[in-house]
Amino acid sequence: MQQILSSWFVKGMIKATYDMWLKGWDERNGGNITMRLLEDDITSFKSDFYQNPRHVSLTQDIAALANQYFIVTGSGKFFRNVILDPTDTLAIVKVDEQGKGYYIMWGLVNGGVPTSELAAHLQSHIVRMKITNNTDRVIMHCHATNLIALTYVIELNNAELTRLLWEMSTECLVVFPEGVGIVPWMVPGKDEIGYETAKQMNKHALVLWAFHGIFGSGPSLDDAFGLIDTAEKSAEIAVKVLSMGGKKQTISTEQFILLAERFGVTPTQGILD
Ligand code: 13P
Ligand code: ZN
Repeated sequence: MQQILSSWFVKGMIKATYDMWLKGWDERNGGNITMRLLEDDITSFKSDFYQNPRHVSLTQDIAALANQYFIVTGSGKFFRNVILDPTDTLAIVKVDEQGKGYYIMWGLVNGGVPTSELAAHLQSHIVRMKITNNTDRVIMHCHATNLIALTYVIELNNAELTRLLWEMSTECLVVFPEGVGIVPWMVPGKDEIGYETAKQMNKHALVLWAFHGIFGSGPSLDDAFGLIDTAEKSAEIAVKVLSMGGKKQTISTEQFILLAERFGVTPTQGILD
């Protein structure tokens, strides 16, 4: 058995994909995860890497990620099956020196390529590395049911969505004080939606794709999962509240201000005005 299968990062990807499947966020091949790996993470497992890794070219510019390693989910792979065969469903890629493509260093033993949403992931990594001083390492995408449902009935603007999610659960302001960004419907799997997602990632660790799904960023798999889980829980409450005829009362602006003070967070501007 390959040593790498007992690494924290392969085990982490198995747990995250399976938890996401159990949540109902990842039907069929829905969803994808990429996690940046450091040299220290992989040094003891390099003997499991391919001798002659396959090179794949990209059309997006990822020069800022030159020589970085990522563990990623494969395109078309089912999250519920990662636990059964991580070597078939996951890959470790290394961005080439020019940032024009990447090498598949491990995984995808039966062929295939990393997730079709690689553009959105890599562009988001570039932005989040910059604004979090390299702390963020995980980009996670899934088809969280209630967040998607909300995009059919609310105004598609960041402020309205953010205020609604903050109101639907007291913890939300504390967990994502920088709010949620929205990308209007675009063709998935292309560079353009990747650039739009990254633009929103400049200000928000959560970005909602209308009629499609959510992107979350964080330092670890647990952080990204927890962030999406919190927003999705709040969206579920919003769906229930709207289904019961709408709000009769809610958390007030004054109460949000007290909440922010208590937990030492700064709510993003323009939401509580
Ligand atoms: P992949 O199987 O290529 O990762 O695509 C799934 C998905 O959710 C597309 O948005
Ligand atoms: Zn998707």
